[in-house]
Amino acid sequence: MKKPAIFRIFEQDQPKLTSSSKTEERNMTEKERPSFKPKEELVCPKGLSNKEAQKRLKQDGENRLKSEKQVSAAKIFAGQFKDFLVLILLVSTGISVFMGEFAEALSIAVILLLNAILGFIQEYRTEKTLETLKNMAAPTSKVFRDGTLREIPAVELVTGDLIEVQAGDRVPADAVLCSASHLEAEESILTGESVPAVKAPDPSKGISNYLNQPHLLYMGTSIVKGHGRATIVATGMNTQMGRIAGMLGEIQEEPTPLQKRLDELGKYIVAACLFISAIVIAVGLFRGYPLLQMLITGVSLAVAAVPEGLPAIVTIALALAVKRMVRRHALVRRLHAVETLGCASIICTDKTGTLTENKMTVREVVTANANYRVEGNGYQQAGGFLRDGNHIHAKYETTLCRLLETAVLCNNAKISVTNQEVRRDRTRSTASGLYRTIGEPTEIALLIMAAKGGVTRQSLQSEYQVYDETPFDSAVKYMSVSARTPGGREYYFFKGAYDVISKQCDRCMTEQGTRPFSEMNGYFDEKNKQLASSGMRVLAFAYREGGQGDSHLVFLGLCGMIDPPRKEARRAVQVCRRAGVRTVMITGDHQLTACAIGEQVGIYRKGNLCFTGAELDAMSDSALEKVIHQATVFARVSPSHKLRIVRALKRRGEIVAMTGDGVNDAPAIKEADIGVSMGITGSDVTKQAADVILLDDNFATMVAAIEEGRVIYGNIRKFIRYLLSCNIGEVVTMFLGMLMGMPVPLLPMQILMVNLVTDGLPAIALGLDPAEEDTMKKPPRSANDSIFSGGLVFTILTRGILIGFTTLTVFTIVFRMSLSVDAARTAAFLALVLSQLIHVFECKSETKSIFKIPYGNNKMLLFSTLISAIVAIASIYFQPLNQLLKTCPLPQAQFLITVACTLIIPVLNAFILKFKRMKSQKSALMIPSVDKS
Ligand code: ATP
Repeated sequence: MKKPAIFRIFEQDQPKLTSSSKTEERNMTEKERPSFKPKEELVCPKGLSNKEAQKRLKQDGENRLKSEKQVSAAKIFAGQFKDFLVLILLVSTGISVFMGEFAEALSIAVILLLNAILGFIQEYRTEKTLETLKNMAAPTSKVFRDGTLREIPAVELVTGDLIEVQAGDRVPADAVLCSASHLEAEESILTGESVPAVKAPDPSKGISNYLNQPHLLYMGTSIVKGHGRATIVATGMNTQMGRIAGMLGEIQEEPTPLQKRLDELGKYIVAACLFISAIVIAVGLFRGYPLLQMLITGVSLAVAAVPEGLPAIVTIALALAVKRMVRRHALVRRLHAVETLGCASIICTDKTGTLTENKMTVREVVTANANYRVEGNGYQQAGGFLRDGNHIHAKYETTLCRLLETAVLCNNAKISVTNQEVRRDRTRSTASGLYRTIGEPTEIALLIMAAKGGVTRQSLQSEYQVYDETPFDSAVKYMSVSARTPGGREYYFFKGAYDVISKQCDRCMTEQGTRPFSEMNGYFDEKNKQLASSGMRVLAFAYREGGQGDSHLVFLGLCGMIDPPRKEARRAVQVCRRAGVRTVMITGDHQLTACAIGEQVGIYRKGNLCFTGAELDAMSDSALEKVIHQATVFARVSPSHKLRIVRALKRRGEIVAMTGDGVNDAPAIKEADIGVSMGITGSDVTKQAADVILLDDNFATMVAAIEEGRVIYGNIRKFIRYLLSCNIGEVVTMFLGMLMGMPVPLLPMQILMVNLVTDGLPAIALGLDPAEEDTMKKPPRSANDSIFSGGLVFTILTRGILIGFTTLTVFTIVFRMSLSVDAARTAAFLALVLSQLIHVFECKSETKSIFKIPYGNNKMLLFSTLISAIVAIASIYFQPLNQLLKTCPLPQAQFLITVACTLIIPVLNAFILKFKRMKSQKSALMIPSVDKS
């Protein structure tokens, strides 16, 4: 098997997975979208009809850069014969034909062909698996078709399409802006300029496509701020990116570190094998065997013994692991991440949506005059406001009413009523059913709260027209909008983190009019702490009439919303603890909220430290490095803090997995050893920077990925152990046999047949072994550990030599019994195959003997060994194969002796393992117990 050319697997533009909110957005019509869009949007065209788009797609072709060269099936098959040794063997068989040795030449050719077919099937399937995964991560784009906003594959975009972009998106084609709100794009990929470019429509400019134009967006660049709409002017190779694509060439993904190391090791093994094969040839010649026969024997030995398939099998195993991870909702974008996952020693995780469900429900509202309890749960319509246990009408409470108005106006989410059923009694009306929702859960919760108080976007439509917006950003932690009444009065509405909003307020609204905020400051500080320490996310609301800037605001009040921890999070944190992986929460939320949730999921315990972003700012890098291992919660941090945290942890020698979703998280994700992006809430830019994407945003999925990472590393060790010891067994058989003056123990086609039966399928099946029960009960391996750590080289060498001895013993016994070289070779062939097929089960565990390992948990291994055993038996008792391989049916006694000999070593091994275990248990009992405190 040759190394498959698949290292560029995920080197697609970028993944753009469908988020739940994005999915729902697909079906939202233009009419339905929130009414307060920027003015400029009015000049936007409506976009194309689906029919027109299809026509243009046919005309102009798909929107993709010069497509990657696909590896064709024929090329993969031809690749199987590219190996130098196989070529020598083919030439030698050619010479055999020339010299009239037809049978032998045919046998070798058939076996080589079968080997190539097997290698081809495995490699082809790996290519297909990786291709499927690549397609899963194919980019999509939001586009208006037939007046409806949809999400479609970016390759289907055509010129004239109206697209929508927002912070975190990658621009799918070159486009001219027709509306923009605070839009900025990072264009360094095209211009080399790392400062984001401000983007705005400019009707005076045409649609000529030049670089560095503020009114144009360019394919492949990233939106870092704001949102906007644009009409596509160029797609595919006609874009600015397309023009330079040819110059960039194809970017190849590097082989993983393990593959590189194995490649290097492979070279040494090849050298050793060639050396030994040369000696075998020389000894054979010295003893009078014909040159051609010895040449073929030597080369066959080299072909069988060189584990040239090792890097390929590692790739196949990694690809299969990637496939398994997708089933567990973790999409691995880079193969090397699978290896690194196994050594992760710390996971830095977001809170909202990862540890919690991201299903927010407002529970409490606090104004200067009253505390309100909000009834109802989640997206249910039912519920109302209670003050002191009594239902109230929000419209009679001036401050509450203004707060609800702010919550609705300063909001980008959308809710719509489904199967409404309204019941009225004397004081209130209750609606049942669920809301259909689009947007951020925090904002959805606010809309639902306001609706319970009778304030909706529709009810405010005639009063306010929103004309500008400062979008929410995790770095500043607030959002504001500017609105105008029909009478021309200007209003500014704000919502955001309490500590941010309260700093900008100088007055506070009460039922009795406004008062200086300094009088109420202490009261709200206290309320904020109360709500946060019960685990609620707190948002503050403020507004101002007229004026400019973000200060001199009137404080309105607070609302506290719950976001329950995910059920599986606590267990996953526990699993991590047992596996020696520390979990650290990094959140933009308030310190008290973060600690409360941290406690609920088991991350934050007595004695742990919690740092805020402000505290991090006051600390030097070296001070942070000293204390960082004591902290399990980082609260009120902005994305830039994440980078410092990753760096400090890495300096302490940790292998860091860092999650993120926003565009600003990308640098930290890139810096981490394993960058993890959210699949649902993650922006394109974050996903592109990540090594792993959590398709369900769930912390437990991250832990599952780490487990898979450990399993696959263990499995790679298993099949390396298997392949190398088997190959050593073959070399020892031939080498010692020749040195001891015996007849050649195995003929070339017999060696090749052993290789065919034992090397491929059972080794790959070992790569599919499921997790051993202690996988997540031991600490992570060190990143510097060699794949052969823990005495694996010794195990491989001794077992290999013993396989060789067993084969030679069988050869000698049967030769003495039958005085037939053919029978002795047949028995040696059988002994070699059986020893290897028994050894494959020994390789399933490094600590358990063949009497203790679970046989039934890897059906593929059972199946492949069964097939191999059948082929081996058929090679002895099936007459046409006898002719092909020069074997002969073994009488019962010789057969039984062979089987018995192959069992001696594994059984002895089992006893040695048992003895070792007993000894280590005994010494564990003798160690004085450690002080538990
Ligand atoms: P993480 O997902 O990393 O745990 P987070 O979601 O808790 O982060 P951010 O989204 O950065 O953190 O929110 C930080 C603070 O900003 C919140 O505590 C809240 O007060 C405020 N906030 C959150 N969402 C909005 C929003 N849509 N509009 C205004 N303010 C918001």
